[in-house]
Amino acid sequence: MSARAWILSVEDRERLIKGAFEAKEGSYSPYSKFPVGAALLASDGTIIKGANIENASYGGTICAERTAIVKAVSEGTRSFIGLAVVTNVAAAISPCGICRQVIREFCALDMPVLLIPGDYPKKVEGEQKPGFGEGGVRETTLGELLPDSFGPEHLELPRK
Ligand SMILES: [Zn+2]
Repeated sequence: MSARAWILSVEDRERLIKGAFEAKEGSYSPYSKFPVGAALLASDGTIIKGANIENASYGGTICAERTAIVKAVSEGTRSFIGLAVVTNVAAAISPCGICRQVIREFCALDMPVLLIPGDYPKKVEGEQKPGFGEGGVRETTLGELLPDSFGPEHLELPRK
């Protein structure tokens, strides 16, 4: 899966990054002390924010990405054109496996996913590494994060 993402406008990219940082402020992460913020850009231009919400019964914890998706979908928004995720770590951190699958339910495989270092905008010496963009942001897609995935269309296939 190497299909390049469709291109986000500079403005949309900035809104997503800002939204992810704002979302992180809502994190409830007293156990991991690993706050995460996620921002989804819907096709209608709205930004939906989500943070990780932990629970004393650890299995009840929900990640930032799924918080954002569940908020949006439960309010009737089901079409998205971008996702950004940020943590407090000075590196691009990827969504966990469960989140990748949940994102897969509602987002195209070539949807851009921005993984933002917590120290964004990072000062980058020399050339950016492949797959990284301005400010040290890793620019990937859902399809790159979740190759050979199973999705809703597979349930529509004929069965014997
Ligand atoms: Zn997750």
